Amino acid sequence: MARRSKTRKNGAGSCPIERVLIWTDMEGISCITRWEQVNSTGSAYAEGRALYTEDVNAAVRGAKLAGFEEIYVVDGHGAGGAYSFNSYLKDKLEPGAQYVFGHRWGCFVEPLRVGRCAVVLVGAHARAGVADGVLCHTMSSESWYHATLNGKPIGEVGFAAAIAGSFGAPVVFVSGDAATCREARELLGEHLVCAQVKRGVTRFAAVCLPPAESQQLIEDGVYAALIRSAELLPAPYDPRSPMTLRVELTSPDKVKDYMGRMGISVVGPREIESKGETFWELWDRFWHY
Ligand SMILES: [Zn+2]
Repeated sequence: MARRSKTRKNGAGSCPIERVLIWTDMEGISCITRWEQVNSTGSAYAEGRALYTEDVNAAVRGAKLAGFEEIYVVDGHGAGGAYSFNSYLKDKLEPGAQYVFGHRWGCFVEPLRVGRCAVVLVGAHARAGVADGVLCHTMSSESWYHATLNGKPIGEVGFAAAIAGSFGAPVVFVSGDAATCREARELLGEHLVCAQVKRGVTRFAAVCLPPAESQQLIEDGVYAALIRSAELLPAPYDPRSPMTLRVELTSPDKVKDYMGRMGISVVGPREIESKGETFWELWDRFWHY
């Protein structure tokens, strides 16, 4: 299924962006504060996926308003079982985009390979160990304790930006809690548009916007991020090469999942490491298996 892309008409000056890739996660959605809302077997999952779907729809509306016809939306949330990377309520999805199900987080890069692509992150969450990060974790709350890229702490926003950056694409918008917006701005700079939909009080408590307001914030923010001229787009994230990703796992037994894997070294009782010239090269070995 292919949609013809057209050059965007909105915005001043020349814009190098012709397509939009929306990567979504569930923990950074407004009014979501508990694992029970994001795990498929959780007692409040039905509520969580309804909230998730509407925040995602708002981002699609923003991209459509900005004039884009080639919009890819990827469900990146591992809810568990049949609902992993498959949590949206299908009959409620906003028309005018193509939806990707069943692909692991950060692995669907087709539009990035084509080029002239901007990345939008909806429902992102802070990295593991952040005091006010609602449901904060890095890749796995059970087995990853801490990760660094070239010695600098990194979470999923950083991973997404580094994957996009490997293909020369910028992350232009992030929605999530205050901690996520802070983390993203520190990494990606002042031109990043952020929609703060909640403020964490603890890892499992937050001051939240009502969904209607968070959705408006997301729609307006995505629109504003995508109508910018080239010089006002955030630069693609480019950690210096060669890159070293080091992950401290939660306990030594978790190391066995990575033993014998090409390009991954065990460097401590619960530490593993991978090196690459581009982040995608490194990530592809690390996560996409
Ligand atoms: Zn998630």
